[in-house]
Amino acid sequence: MTVPASTICCSGCGYTADPADPYPFRCPRAGIDDTDHVLTRMLSLDGATFPHDREANPFLRYRSLMHSYHVATARGLPDAAYRDLVASLDALVAAVDGHGFRATRSPAAGNSARRWASPRPAGCGSRTRPATCPARTRAGT
Ligand SMILES: [Zn+2]
Repeated sequence: MTVPASTICCSGCGYTADPADPYPFRCPRAGIDDTDHVLTRMLSLDGATFPHDREANPFLRYRSLMHSYHVATARGLPDAAYRDLVASLDALVAAVDGHGFRATRSPAAGNSARRWASPRPAGCGSRTRPATCPARTRAGT
């Protein structure tokens, strides 16, 4: 297994979940102190690109930014197989609800969407993920 392009880590204590852990849903240190142990995804910008295709299904369109995609492909699942899996889940949802997942547009999001579609300004996107998640504690602790 290669290292996934994203990791799950705790913003409270810096714990990083094992990439092989299939269910990293709770920090193992939660409940032992007064820190908010909130697991977050950290995306490595090395090799990550923002999708610009017109795929209607957001789970396919933005898959290159999703931890589930990173874990699946790091374990050897081909992109086509991941797409097939997402499409089959979408078909099951459509069978129950009448339609699958589709991005919806909001009039308020119009300007925001245009900004995202613009080329990046110089220097933007050159940040890399810190070696460890930043640990935060509540003020006074
Ligand atoms: Zn934690």
